[in-house]
Amino acid sequence: MAQAGANVTVLEQAAELREVGAGLQVTPNGARVIRALGLGADYDAGGLAAAAVSPTDALTGRVLARFDLGHTDPAYRFFHRATLQRLLADGAVAQGAAIRTGIRVDRLARGGRIMTDEGAREADLVIGADGIHSVARRFCEPDARPAEFTGQVAWRAVVSCSDVPPVARIWMAPGRHVVTYPLSAERMNIVAVQERTEWAEEGWHHPDDPENLRTAFADCGPDLRAILDRVEEARLWGLFRHPVARHWHNDRVAILGDAAHPTLPFLAQGANLALEDAFVLARCCAGLPLDKALPRYQALRRDRVSRAIDAANANARNYHLSGAGRRVAHLGLGLMDRLAPALFLGRFGWLYDYDPAAVTP
Ligand SMILES: Cc1cc2nc3c(=O)[nH]c(=O)nc-3n(C[C@H](O)[C@H](O)[C@H](O)COP(=O)(O)OP(=O)(O)OC[C@H]3O[C@@H](n4cnc5c(N)ncnc54)[C@H](O)[C@@H]3O)c2cc1C
Repeated sequence: MAQAGANVTVLEQAAELREVGAGLQVTPNGARVIRALGLGADYDAGGLAAAAVSPTDALTGRVLARFDLGHTDPAYRFFHRATLQRLLADGAVAQGAAIRTGIRVDRLARGGRIMTDEGAREADLVIGADGIHSVARRFCEPDARPAEFTGQVAWRAVVSCSDVPPVARIWMAPGRHVVTYPLSAERMNIVAVQERTEWAEEGWHHPDDPENLRTAFADCGPDLRAILDRVEEARLWGLFRHPVARHWHNDRVAILGDAAHPTLPFLAQGANLALEDAFVLARCCAGLPLDKALPRYQALRRDRVSRAIDAANANARNYHLSGAGRRVAHLGLGLMDRLAPALFLGRFGWLYDYDPAAVTP
C-alpha cells in the first residue's frame, strides 16, 4: 500500500515486534509476492532453501519417498518467523510505513473509525490483518458462524540439531503426524499433531509439558523419538476450523489473512495466502476506486483461498490413516517416488505457480 503511495500506519498490539520460536515454510507463491515487493534479495538471503519433502513412516522411521523442492523459482524456503517478520517490517518502513507497537484496536465503526486503547483514529481504509480473533472480521461479518474444534491438537517446538539436510519430513502415524525441518544449521522446527476428543480454547500460547508430546509418539521409531527427546519447551493448542468469511469488506474496512480465512497448518499456506491477499488488495486499491476495489479484491481471492483450505484439510486426513488405508497410501507414495515424482508437487501447481503480480484488478 505504501509503495502505491498510501500513507500507512500499522497498529500492533504487541509491545514489540517479536515472534516466539517457530518456523514457517514459504512456498513459491508467497515468495513471488515478496519478490514483487522488491524484497527478493533479502528473501534469497534469509532462511534456508528447501531441498525436498520426505513423507516418512513414523512407526518405523522408513522414508517412503523424497520429492524434490530444489528446482522451484523462487525457491521454497524454511524461515524462522522472526526473520520473515523483520524482512517485511523493514521493507514496509523503507517505503514510509509507520509501525506503532503497543496499541490494541478494540472496535471499528463506520467511516473508517478505529477505537484503540489510546483513543479514536480515522482512516480512508482500515485493513484488518489481525489474525484468528479478528476485531475487523466481527465488523465485516457480525453474524459469522463460530469456529469448531477439529478434534486435533498441535504442539510446536524448536530443538537443537546439527547439520540436518534442508528437508521437510512428514512423519505419519495413525491419528498423528509430526513435521520437522531445519531453520538453520543448529535449529530444527517441530509441529506435532494428535487427534483428541476434547479441547477448551483456541490459541497457541499454552505451554505444555514436553513429556506429553513424547508420550503421544512413544510407539514411534527411534529416529523420531530422538528428535522429540530434545524438546525442552513445547506449546500446545487446539486446532479449530473457521468458515472462510462471506464478507471480506464493509464500508471502509477490508480483512485479509487469518482474519478472513484461518487455515489449518497442513499445507503450510496460512502466511503464504496472507501475503497473496495483501498484494492483491493493494493492487485493487491502486487500480480502482475504493467502492469497486474491495468487492474486486474479495472476488479475486475467495475461491482460491477456499480451495487451498480444502486441500489442507484433506492432508490432515491422509497423514493420519491407519490399517489397510495406511498401507495402500504408503505403497502409493513409494510408487509415485519411483515412477512419477513430479506428480507430488505437480498436484499443487495451481497453488505454487500462482503469480499475484499477474492479477488484473
Ligand atoms: C504451527 C503452525 C505452523 C504454521 N506453518 C505455516 C507455514 O509453514 N507456512 C504458512 O504459510 N503458514 C503457516 N502457518 C499459518 C500462519 O502462521 C498464519 O496463517 C499467519 O501467521 C497468518 O498471518 P496473519 O498476518 O493473518 O495473522 P497473525 O500472524 O495472527 O498476525 C496478526 C497480528 O495482529 C495483531 N493483533 C491481533 N489483534 C489485534 C488488535 N485487536 N489490535 C492490534 N493488533 C492486533 C497480533 O498481535 C498479530 O501480530 C502455521 C500456523 C501454525 C499455527
